[in-house]
Amino acid sequence: MFSILKKDTGSHARSGTLTTPGGRIVETPAYAIVGTHAEVRCLPPERMKDAKVQLIIANTYHLWQKLGEKLETFPGLHVEMNIPNTVIMTDSGGFQVFSLGFGREHGVGKVGGIRNSSVGTGRSPSPADRAALRSHPGESNIRRIPSSPGFREFPPDDFLIHDERNMRDKNLVRITEEGAYFMTDNGESFLGPKLSMEIQEKLGADIILAFDECTSPEHDYVYQKEALARTHRWAKICIDVHNRPKELSTHSRQWVDGSGERKKQQMLYGIVQGGIFEDLRKESSHYIGNLPFDGFAIGGSFGETQMRDVIGWSVSGLPEEKPRHLLGIGKIEDILNGVAEGVDTFDCVIPTREARHGGIWTHEGRFDAKKNPNKNSKEPIEAGCACPTCAHGMTRGMLFNMFHSKDIKAGEYATMHNIFFFNTFMSEVRGAIRNGMFEEFEKKARVKLLKQ
Ligand SMILES: [Zn+2]
Repeated sequence: MFSILKKDTGSHARSGTLTTPGGRIVETPAYAIVGTHAEVRCLPPERMKDAKVQLIIANTYHLWQKLGEKLETFPGLHVEMNIPNTVIMTDSGGFQVFSLGFGREHGVGKVGGIRNSSVGTGRSPSPADRAALRSHPGESNIRRIPSSPGFREFPPDDFLIHDERNMRDKNLVRITEEGAYFMTDNGESFLGPKLSMEIQEKLGADIILAFDECTSPEHDYVYQKEALARTHRWAKICIDVHNRPKELSTHSRQWVDGSGERKKQQMLYGIVQGGIFEDLRKESSHYIGNLPFDGFAIGGSFGETQMRDVIGWSVSGLPEEKPRHLLGIGKIEDILNGVAEGVDTFDCVIPTREARHGGIWTHEGRFDAKKNPNKNSKEPIEAGCACPTCAHGMTRGMLFNMFHSKDIKAGEYATMHNIFFFNTFMSEVRGAIRNGMFEEFEKKARVKLLKQ
């Protein structure tokens, strides 16, 4: 259930309370911390409360690959992660269709831009590309229109995993009408809408996502349109699987029998796609928004400069009263834009990944703890911060030394501070909306926080 407590008058921002069928609660707007493999790196479960964590997002594809047959006896993510009261989401594996496929082959992030790619920016599609576009519908690895609007880091875990095997640049995904075939060490694995739903039921998150095809910012209009139609067809299959009678379920975690009433334990979110194209985003928003999902996520590619517009188009057809999640995007600027456009929850690796590499976020901007100015600094990490790291008396100089002496605790201290910072920032966003001060808050935050 989602209750909107207050709407901003100057924007589409809203603040509310999301209560899952299992009775777990998220105050929105909120930030989901990424726990890809059912653990948040450098943050033990017992410390999540100290870091003010409300929401975790785990990865269906990677857990499925990791667990294999153990999935059948998996106790559920809340038990496995030892966080019985924290709301957990799982993505559907749709992102890996992109990250292990086209994104990996061309080194492309979801916001746009090239990583380690032989495909240069600004190049028009060659005649061969165009011919391929026409003659091979349904195969993602042959379409590319490299018109990158810029580069922004996105979770490169999938790249890193495969870098170690020297398999970089190989597209591991083949897309068909039924789903996606992933090339793995054990041969080809198939993941489609039905199986993704079944796996997510077994993982047992509070919020699960429809299986979609996450496209690349490099894909052209023709391909985006075709992929969108596929995502829409898959959305309906996901709803049918989610709503099937209990007798047809392969797993019972989806249901509880209480006081004679069978109640679903998981909320299913549909995903809006459509790349950076206004008509496709609006079409998808209306189509997905009219299906009986419990909430909605906005996925796929966003241009660096078009991001706010893309978010606006993506929510234009969504029902006001249901929650909305922005997938894989979570810089401060993106949060402010997303909240102003009516997004309720976000997830991104920024707080955790940057912490492990020395990137520290504060209300005065971001700094790199490993850089020299911090060497003998007696300054606190952030003056006035109440996180356990800062409360412990950690200075920038101490953190500098820990990172440079390869002390594994450095990542833990930094991770605690960053997660606490992002969760504190979200609580300030909520406070501002609820007090009717969002516009003022947003202006100040943009000036102060966007120096990084
Ligand atoms: Zn702190």
